[in-house]
Amino acid sequence: MTLLAPLFLSHGSPMLALDAGESGRFWQRLGAEMPQPDAVLCVSAHWNTEAPTVGATERPATIHDFYGFPEPLYRIAYPTPGAPAVAHRAAALLEDAGVPCLVDPERGLDHGAWVPLKSMYRSGIPAASLSVQPRRDAAWHCRVGRALAPLIHENVLVLATGGAVHNLREMDRDGGETPLWASAFDEWLAAAVASGSEADLLDWQRRAPESRRAHPSPEHLLPLFVAYGAAGPGARGTRLHAGFTLGSMSMAAYRFA
Ligand code: ZN
Repeated sequence: MTLLAPLFLSHGSPMLALDAGESGRFWQRLGAEMPQPDAVLCVSAHWNTEAPTVGATERPATIHDFYGFPEPLYRIAYPTPGAPAVAHRAAALLEDAGVPCLVDPERGLDHGAWVPLKSMYRSGIPAASLSVQPRRDAAWHCRVGRALAPLIHENVLVLATGGAVHNLREMDRDGGETPLWASAFDEWLAAAVASGSEADLLDWQRRAPESRRAHPSPEHLLPLFVAYGAAGPGARGTRLHAGFTLGSMSMAAYRFA
């Protein structure tokens, strides 16, 4: 297994920045147990663009890209160095693979990136971001990941974050029981990831049960295919963490190798 195997983390609600609970303890353990990367390339569901874009800032701002949450949440900052060299390297790898990539010199870290990073690397880690393309499919994101595979050997962690099941309209703020449709999709995904079946994974919208309900829009699952792709052909995933929050929101996490 590659030491710095790409990860997919479900980042959950922004509220986890205040009290990450069980997921926070998992992220903390994960950060402590893994070899320390030189930098992290975050592929976040919350940065959506037409073309792949990397953030190449020296000092990424903590972006509070959420609305209607308690005030203290907006005061949390995650001051951490940027990784502009890694951003430029990622852009060059994508260009080499025939995937044009833009560079944003100012993009900071959105909550999909900084909420888990803050638990994984409390004292900071050089970090850059890469956007996802909601109008593109899983195969496209897998291709983006494949292009980034050399980063693994350059001690860069590809950290994809989104949600294994993510339907904001079906959230249960009282944290009720997980509905069957949500666990059906979550378990299908876990099995497809474990088998490494490219045919199943890349065709998830047709093959998975309840795919439309689990993902009314695809952006929270698309980062997973970047992590899968970055691990190289034939990669399989190991589920590192499972569970639900807010009823139907899966917190599943996978490592690909
Ligand atoms: Zn999110």
